[in-house]
Amino acid sequence: MLSPRTIPFFNYPALFAKQEQQFLEIINDVLRRGAYIMQKDLAEFETSLAQYLGVKHAIGIADGTMALTIGLKATGIEDGSEVIVPSHTFVASAAAINHAGGIPVLADCGLDHLISPASIERLITPKTRAIMPVQLNGRTTEMDVILDIAQNHGLFVLEDSCQALGSKYKGKFAGTFGKAGAFSFYPAKTLGCFGDGGALVTDDDTIAQRAYLLRDHGRGPDGNIWCYGFNARLDNLQAAILKFKLKEYDKDIIRRRELAARYHESLKNLSELCLPPSPDSDDNHFDIYQNYEIEAESRDELRVFLSERGVSTIMQWGGNTLHQFEMLGLKGITTYTEEMTKRFMLLPMNTSLSDEDIDYICECINMFYK
Ligand SMILES: *Cc1c(COP(=O)(O)O)cnc(C)c1O
Repeated sequence: MLSPRTIPFFNYPALFAKQEQQFLEIINDVLRRGAYIMQKDLAEFETSLAQYLGVKHAIGIADGTMALTIGLKATGIEDGSEVIVPSHTFVASAAAINHAGGIPVLADCGLDHLISPASIERLITPKTRAIMPVQLNGRTTEMDVILDIAQNHGLFVLEDSCQALGSKYKGKFAGTFGKAGAFSFYPAKTLGCFGDGGALVTDDDTIAQRAYLLRDHGRGPDGNIWCYGFNARLDNLQAAILKFKLKEYDKDIIRRRELAARYHESLKNLSELCLPPSPDSDDNHFDIYQNYEIEAESRDELRVFLSERGVSTIMQWGGNTLHQFEMLGLKGITTYTEEMTKRFMLLPMNTSLSDEDIDYICECINMFYK
């Protein structure tokens, strides 16, 4: 019996404290240079990110939502064209489609909570233009199946890989399969900055050139305005922090996979739970565990039980998936998604957790089901 402890769902101050001195040095350096907008730190981060993923272009953008919006606009969808996106995602995925002039059409998810290919096929109409798979919780969906469907129907693929930097399928990084991929550096993301941040990655020169214009008022290197754009640049200060954190990012991924393996070991025998695949479950997937999302019987009671014992949990998107937000009026196939939302929840998953924290959480869960 472990002694009681308090485990917040996320601990920003602890993450800052771990490397406070280095962070302050970076911030001082940038501020002393007065280097705020589109300076060398941004260019250097973009180069490091492109190298990390093995892509031609990484374009720093204000946040993940704008990266998705700019990605869709740069790839080109006509007004009123349909884009297939899972219902189990952040509202930002659908908002980006809407802002780019498209109509989000909702696909179901499978047992691993990622977009279901069978439901995609059933949703394709003459108006469908693109598929936006969401590499949720740090896991990359079976992209060869998605790319086949896209090719057979003349659609393009744009990945919402906001939760999946470093995640791989068959050795290839999330975000690098389709025409372009979007990333988010929101503080709670696996690579988080101290505010909002995002990036679009692509191997396509034309998409990249459009994205560079769109993120900076449509302004080219010559100062001329080539189109209406946005003010959606990634701040240079955030880029400097991200460049530093990216260098050590693989260590964070290793740690997250250790924590996931530890959860798996202690919880796998509970028939009341459906767990995410374990880190070594198959050779095709390399998951980075942005989140540890489980399905639990008596979910609400379990959450109260854990909370009374100092363990904070949350439900992604406040417990709703996109088809449940009535104001948005979105339609699609959501059979399993609807069932899943009655049971889904997130256990704490971040690099400020100790092994003992995970053991304590698992002990509480085991106690609950006894
Ligand atoms: C975080 C996230 C986004 C948007 O990222 P922001 O940087 O917050 O705009 C989009 N899609 C998914 C699945 C996300 O988790």
